[in-house]
Amino acid sequence: MKGIFKIILSLVIIALLIIIGALIWTNYFAEPEMPNLKQEMVEYKKINNYEEETESYLIKSSKIDADDFINLSVNSFVDEKIVEFKKDNSSQSKILPRDKAVFKNVIDTFIVNENIVSVKVTIMQKGIEKENYDTQIQTYNFYLKDKVNISLDDLFKAGYKEKIKDKYTDKYLLKNNSIEFYNNTQKNNCTYNTLKEYGKNKIITAKNYDISQEEYDKLLSRVVDPSRKMVAITLDDGPHGSNTQKILDILDAHSARATFFMLGQNVVNNEGVVKDVYSRGNEIGIHTWSHPQLTNLSESSIKSQIEQTSDAIYNVTGYRPTLVRPPYGSFNKVVKDTLKDYSLILWNIDSLDWKSRDENQIVPLVMNDIQDGDIILLHDIHSTTVPAVDKIVSELDKQGYQMVTVSELIEAKGYNRETTQVFYSGRQ
Ligand code: ZN
Repeated sequence: MKGIFKIILSLVIIALLIIIGALIWTNYFAEPEMPNLKQEMVEYKKINNYEEETESYLIKSSKIDADDFINLSVNSFVDEKIVEFKKDNSSQSKILPRDKAVFKNVIDTFIVNENIVSVKVTIMQKGIEKENYDTQIQTYNFYLKDKVNISLDDLFKAGYKEKIKDKYTDKYLLKNNSIEFYNNTQKNNCTYNTLKEYGKNKIITAKNYDISQEEYDKLLSRVVDPSRKMVAITLDDGPHGSNTQKILDILDAHSARATFFMLGQNVVNNEGVVKDVYSRGNEIGIHTWSHPQLTNLSESSIKSQIEQTSDAIYNVTGYRPTLVRPPYGSFNKVVKDTLKDYSLILWNIDSLDWKSRDENQIVPLVMNDIQDGDIILLHDIHSTTVPAVDKIVSELDKQGYQMVTVSELIEAKGYNRETTQVFYSGRQ
């Protein structure tokens, strides 16, 4: 009896050892999977706004109100910049300038997953009587569990920097599908997929986190929630000196964002507006330089219409658009092939605002059969479009639509821009 018991016990122990060994083995030699970042992308923020005005300057500042360690990093950076700004601009108060020095900052926050929040601070400032804003971007990526900043070396093995050296900078934002590297204000995307072989799979998959979903939810002020209905408002032919600005205020009042397909020839005349469109979180797309029908042009003319406009937008914002709206919605294979690096964005809701110039006709045309995923065509070049946008945005807000940029729409609806080039809506 004792002998049999010993044999059974030995067998059980051996079996356990094999199982434990196998578990350790598979874990140890597992392929480094990329971090599980497929959680809903939502914005994480409670942002408080502050204003301060003197004879010589105007400060419109935003501070984040989240966990102390986040507040400390982000807000002390903003404070430092404000101190510098005041030092540079308050001594001239006796001149009584017509135009004040301006300091603005915007804080964008993203929940990457339950453990990680990334924060982008955009600071724009201009001196007294100066035309242009200087823009500066600072980035943070917080690991909530340990209350630390995440370095890319925490996420990736050695060698990834060399692999992506054309994009790599030490300013980066973790997003749910990609890392955005910032070189000044120029943004370079690197998808996790392209970095897959360098992944460490350590930090991001940690199970415990300090902030509950309920706490997150309380902090949300603007959310891109893929499970809720959304539309993309697009505004063509601008920017326009006053209309575009009014539309930006309407959008802000409803936490809405839109996509502005700009003409290069208007960009160069309205640089301040272009900066404002961009810094307030809207997307800028290319609508050519001078509005020709692209199907009548040679490849090289198509290229120069797009590239000149891209350069003009880049010179003002530091951002290179990835979307093109062909004038008159007209394109063919040559246009597609020539612009293969861009997504071509058409529309499925036409407001005919350029034709009616009448909000009483524009609003019902847009609202009558609006649906989740629609792309709406409007033109910020016409002043009659402004009150129409006001009504449309209010009504969409009331009906519970999220108003997102075209890129947000495409991403939220799960399209792959490498395999789909032409978009009419987010439900094609
Ligand atoms: Zn147009």
